Amino acid sequence: MRIFKFGGASVKDAEGVENVYDVLQKVGYDDVLLVVSAMGKTTNALEVVVKRYFEKSPELSNAIREVKEYHLAIMMDLFEGTNNMVFNAVNKHFSDLEHFLVINKSPNYNFVYDQIVSMGEILSTTILSHYFSYKGINNEWVDVRNLIKTDQTYRDAVVDWEQTQEIISKTIKRNTLNITQGFIGSDENYFTTTLGREGSDYTAAIFAYCTNAESVTIWKDVPGVLNADPRYFKDTTLLNQISYREAIELAFYGASVIHPKTLQPLQRKEIPLYVKSFINPLLPGTKVSKGADLEPQTSCFIVKKDQLLLSLSSIDFSFIMEDNISEIFGLLSNYKIKVSLIQNTAISFTICVEDKFEKFQELNAILSKKFKVTYTEGVSLYTIRHFTEAAVHAVEAGKNVLVKQMSKETMQLVTL
Ligand code: ASP
Ligand code: MG
Repeated sequence: MRIFKFGGASVKDAEGVENVYDVLQKVGYDDVLLVVSAMGKTTNALEVVVKRYFEKSPELSNAIREVKEYHLAIMMDLFEGTNNMVFNAVNKHFSDLEHFLVINKSPNYNFVYDQIVSMGEILSTTILSHYFSYKGINNEWVDVRNLIKTDQTYRDAVVDWEQTQEIISKTIKRNTLNITQGFIGSDENYFTTTLGREGSDYTAAIFAYCTNAESVTIWKDVPGVLNADPRYFKDTTLLNQISYREAIELAFYGASVIHPKTLQPLQRKEIPLYVKSFINPLLPGTKVSKGADLEPQTSCFIVKKDQLLLSLSSIDFSFIMEDNISEIFGLLSNYKIKVSLIQNTAISFTICVEDKFEKFQELNAILSKKFKVTYTEGVSLYTIRHFTEAAVHAVEAGKNVLVKQMSKETMQLVTL
């Protein structure tokens, strides 16, 4: 079986859905499982619905209507007239949603979030499944909530691999086109759970693992994985092959390649992962698999903008030792501030951090009681994997380098 994942951007409009059909025509769809995300920015739009619901805002019905009209417009483009069963199916999903909002008694934000936001994937797969039938491709719409079992950590559910494996191997039909939802699962009571934002790639990996798939393909609007982000670098190279280990390293340093969580199950069974263009589906794209670390062997550049360079030194010139460091890390973890580089000398401790949730000033107030704190905001962190002198020079040119750190395969620079 091959597992294909199509993300929100690939099905953001009718043209996108038609293109998925074209891709399947070109690469075949026998014994294929499609994992599909919500269309376009639907997940964000549904997050607004949840917010309005909890605010008891009069805007709630508008927020729902927006999601509905967006999907209806796509359906009107895809299907001739309004006789197709898809219209009933989609309307039914919306009345289920509205019914849930009326009867719900749970004050648990995360629980309600999952029940509502999961609707994005239910809608997209319903539309795709009907569209393929309409175009003459037999297919099986699979409700992933009957297959992927998780705990009750709503919005960040943990997969119960044993149960999931058992159900998937018993129920997934072979030699047909299966269409299912990314990102969602269900708990022991069959309440919907979600696997964390951008979780659809992970769903594809779960299915690959549980069906011993031949491969996973993530279809994207780029030709594959590049050695640098074209927004920041003029010359980029397409990577033909990346080892699992290298891909995990790149992700660790912040490359938006593929999340380690997605790679781990694939690595365990040595299932190759392809990243390919949904515009040119017959091009080879990038393969992540066992084998060469990187092909072609080239430097890879990862930039993280808007970082904060923070230095702590002891007020009395005493050493910064294990107990201080463990306390500092405890605080960083509590405040959900991510550390991307560490440099340590006898009396000072420097870290480059990302303050995603804008918690730094709160943390600073606590740290300042114990340490002398200095920091620079708005720095960039460049990581060069497999660096060369020329690559380092190119990054340094015209910048003020505040920290430079080197290990065997990796150079990191903090610049302003
Ligand atoms: N639709 C979900 C999200 O936008 C899952 C995904 O796209 O992977 O986060
Ligand atoms: Mg999405």
